Amino acid sequence: MADADPTKPPSAELAAMRAAFDRLHAASRREPPADLDLRRDRLERLKIMVRTRADQFVSAIADDFGTRARIETELMELVPTLGAVDHALKNLAKWMRPEKRKVGLNFQPGRAFIQYEPLGVIGIISPWNYPLNLALSPLVDALAAGNRVMIKPSELTPAFSAALAEAIGEAFDADEVVVATGGVEVGRAFASLPFDHLLFTGSTAVGREVYKAAAANLVPVTLELGGKSPVILADDYPLTKAARSIAFGKFLNAGQTCIAPDYVLVPEAKADALAEALLAEVRKSYPDPARDPDYSGVISKRHRDRLVGAIAAARAKGAKVMAHGEEAAQNAGKVAPTIVIGAPEETILASEEIFGPLLPIVPYHRLEDAIAFVNARDRPLALYCFSKNPETQAHVLRHTVSGGATINGTLLHIAQESLPFGGVGPSGIGAYHGVEGFKRFSHARGVYRAGPFIAFERLGPPWGKLARRMAK
Ligand code: NAD
Repeated sequence: MADADPTKPPSAELAAMRAAFDRLHAASRREPPADLDLRRDRLERLKIMVRTRADQFVSAIADDFGTRARIETELMELVPTLGAVDHALKNLAKWMRPEKRKVGLNFQPGRAFIQYEPLGVIGIISPWNYPLNLALSPLVDALAAGNRVMIKPSELTPAFSAALAEAIGEAFDADEVVVATGGVEVGRAFASLPFDHLLFTGSTAVGREVYKAAAANLVPVTLELGGKSPVILADDYPLTKAARSIAFGKFLNAGQTCIAPDYVLVPEAKADALAEALLAEVRKSYPDPARDPDYSGVISKRHRDRLVGAIAAARAKGAKVMAHGEEAAQNAGKVAPTIVIGAPEETILASEEIFGPLLPIVPYHRLEDAIAFVNARDRPLALYCFSKNPETQAHVLRHTVSGGATINGTLLHIAQESLPFGGVGPSGIGAYHGVEGFKRFSHARGVYRAGPFIAFERLGPPWGKLARRMAK
């Protein structure tokens, strides 16, 4: 809980979590649904919390990562979270308005409408890579929809998770929003609580476990998962321009971004030139990755070892590895920006989500081969296509499936407040952000209000007359 003592045995921690949930649940059943004013007040409190604690959050996240540039945390975490609050504040009255629907002839006079109502208590399990935004963006949507919320942040960002628990405890009552901190065991117990909806952001493997735990209580879920997000670079697009966008999206936060380009499909004649252009971008952006305050650290030793192992495995299989400052970065506990050409299918780089600063380049012969390569794999969270030709762009979009997509750029679709964000297939279930987030955490209650008389009821039994009429 917000004030949970980490030295307590897990059973006491779990009991405290359950008690906090019960309190939220009881309040959600006792109190009337939050009206517009209360929802706005909660969103305003969230905004003040984020603004006043910005410095504390930024330095906690930097501590957790070893290195994370202040501006990166501001741009990728604080700005989108505050943007989501403002977007909700601006549109909430409109979103909450009942939606009129058509009434069939037999049911007139009468009215049909959808009323968006709070679901009750929402659970949010968040990962470590953007710990603030991925805990608080779903919170914005859940509060906009009038719910009470319990958040479980990641144990891999202990400084941030503690700061969040303290901040939420100050900004909200214990029957509005609470934070439960802890590791996998707390996560498991959390996913087994009978929430009215559970949003999980994390890996596909853990997502499967969360889905099972939620199913036992018939809890509906939103699963924001991972995967291998491809870039398809068409022959007509300027290489240096593409390299700038791809390097930006890939090496930000040292590749620990769920929608970072995972690999690049490039016309085979251009593979080496693209690798050089990417390295040139990297050298410009991060002159000395080992010491560069703008080049993020990798979150844990386990993840560093995983990434270093993936590079070694690709090398051993004969792939061409081009890194910028590899040894110095490793000595400094970081992983250098690395481009790999020709990683064989059986290597980790080709088969698993990379989630780090390693970028395989996959040469293709014809555009159709690149599309087939993408379609032979799990449906990704994001897809990027670089082409100047609108027909090529439309062709790639029409013949692939992904959670979201940016044309001629990377990451930028997530920054559009008016667009839903989510995966498809193994990259996720359901979407949130903006009005889709509001609806995700609302119950769309269909209401019919009868007029003074209804033709349909007048047709009631005895059925003889109606049966004869229908037989004609
Ligand atoms: P993770 O799945 O290891 O952990 C995520 C959260 O789940 C953490 O809070 C963790 O404590 C908790 N958890 C762990 N085991 C659990 C269990 N059995 N039951 C319930 N909860 C459990 O993910 P991670 O390493 O923190 O994050 C990286 C992954 O998240 C990547 O795969 C990345 O693509 C994905 N991701 C997706 C999005 C998105 O929006 N789709 C955003 C960011 C990250």
